[in-house]
Amino acid sequence: MAMVESLETDTTGEGASLTDGFHLLIDALKLNGVETIYGVPGIPITDLGRMAQAAGIRVLSFRHEQNAGNAAAAAGFLTKKPGICLTVSAPGFLNGLTALAHATTNCWPMILISGSSEREVVDLMQGDYEEMDQLAVAKPLCKAAYRILHAKDIGIGVARAIRASMSGRPGGVYLDIPGNLLGQVMDEVEGQKSLVKVIDPAPKQVPHADAVTRAVELIGSAKKPLIILGKGASYVQADEVVKEFVERTGIPYLPMSMAKGLLPDTHDLSAGPARSLVLKEADVVIMVGARLNWLLSHGKGNQWGIPHSTKFVQLDIEPKEMDSNVQIAAPLVGDIESCLSAMLEEMGHEWRKPPEDWLTTVREKKEGNIARMASKLQNNNSPMDYNGALGVLKRVIAERPDAILVNEGANTLDFARSIIDMFKPRKRLDVGTWGVMGIGMGSCIAAAVETGHPVLAIEGDSAFGFSGMEVETICRYNLPVCIVVFNNNGIYRGTDVNQSGGEDVATTVFVEDSRYDLMMEAFGGVGMHATSPDELLQAVNKAMDSGKPTLINAQIDPAAGKESGNIGSLNPVSVVGKK
Ligand code: ADP
Ligand code: MG
Repeated sequence: MAMVESLETDTTGEGASLTDGFHLLIDALKLNGVETIYGVPGIPITDLGRMAQAAGIRVLSFRHEQNAGNAAAAAGFLTKKPGICLTVSAPGFLNGLTALAHATTNCWPMILISGSSEREVVDLMQGDYEEMDQLAVAKPLCKAAYRILHAKDIGIGVARAIRASMSGRPGGVYLDIPGNLLGQVMDEVEGQKSLVKVIDPAPKQVPHADAVTRAVELIGSAKKPLIILGKGASYVQADEVVKEFVERTGIPYLPMSMAKGLLPDTHDLSAGPARSLVLKEADVVIMVGARLNWLLSHGKGNQWGIPHSTKFVQLDIEPKEMDSNVQIAAPLVGDIESCLSAMLEEMGHEWRKPPEDWLTTVREKKEGNIARMASKLQNNNSPMDYNGALGVLKRVIAERPDAILVNEGANTLDFARSIIDMFKPRKRLDVGTWGVMGIGMGSCIAAAVETGHPVLAIEGDSAFGFSGMEVETICRYNLPVCIVVFNNNGIYRGTDVNQSGGEDVATTVFVEDSRYDLMMEAFGGVGMHATSPDELLQAVNKAMDSGKPTLINAQIDPAAGKESGNIGSLNPVSVVGKK
């Protein structure tokens, strides 16, 4: 038990023990099962990190808070418990905030604990070291924000943060720790009594029977039903019920990117390879932990999207999500496991399968698309195109289904998402709802640390640059991470030219033929260079077998990519043309 020996403050003469803010905070986290902290040390939390490590928490130090925060966010998704990020005041706090907002946007539990400067000075704006009203800044960017001023409130403050992050729709929570809180002293026994273990932090929420009946009736009336599985369905770890629901209803399903693998992408009912067709044709869509946001054209008809006639059943724990973009004909508010179980119960074991002609239409489209793709994926072109390079990485994941795939970039993301099949739940970590570039190395570190499985990161060269310095962190902790940098000399393409004719290269172009592999070697990891799919396959297999930190510089044809990958249409266009 943590304690500080009392000295002259002992008035009883019987050696009563004291504790302080440092120890209470660590004890409160441990009491609630926190095993890992991702952070960057500095004033005023350096000793907090040291003491947490001494107390048996794994404390992983990063090179930049944003990456530590992204690791905590990914840990939240993978473990269903808040990932903890620890940062210094103002600049460190701000660096961590992007990840906190990202976690909140993705509905993942995370707690950003940040040291801050003295309240008295901050509130009078007297110019303290790293002065900032961090609580006010954090509030609009997360689900909840709390500040603890007294040591006796640490227990309840940590409990509130944990419950806020996990209950209902999960999200990011900010916990403000003024530096002098850590040194505050109180009686050891009173301190221990003040700690709070959170009971049932994410209570089940059972949907109402009427809502279940309404949903089941609508599904029963469908001629072309479709299930959309989102990352909320992955997050909840109710894998068996999800599988049972898909298989018992026999309804084709479309996995959103981080729901891939919830059922194997090679499953008979997967409609992934027939995405455009099913979105356009389905008459009833059952949304399971997925939102009708930009990623699904807001549920409204456009050239690829969902037509206005489509009716929706939506399962979500957040009541406000219903009707966010279009009318939800059968809203089912509750936790996914309870909602799916209730629907299965109502449907019974003799539930009829969807009409055969719908299943045939989906199957034929899917098989056609898969066959058309297969030959493209087998090319051994050098320089590599996306199909050739991703074709071999698809084989790597098929042979190593337990590996976690981290994926970011533009073309590198869009092609990898559709080409690489996933076979198990929560094995794909990507840029999430915002499409954040820079989640790469943080996600790799969290994936390796939280799961113990090997990690394969498929990174655009630009995306990698946002967190590339963390290769040192990966080497320092000797994590089984293999990073493949898709090096096409730039953003989208490496072939753009400066239209002014000036000396600077175009805004989207990087140093030609950079050797990212040498960055890994600088820290004692393994660097490799691949110029063809065959070389890439060999290099990745070697890396995955060795379990050593490895970076493979994969030389991609600089002309192969598209502007903004698959979402080029989101770019505004100048009406007077490019000057
Ligand atoms: P995707 O991007 O994969 O479509 P989203 O992040 O848009 O997924 O949607 C995830 C949804 O899952 C959110 O609306 C969130 O409220 C919901 N969700 C999270 N946890 C639960 C849960 N336990 N039960 C039901 N819904 C949940
Ligand atoms: Mg690039």
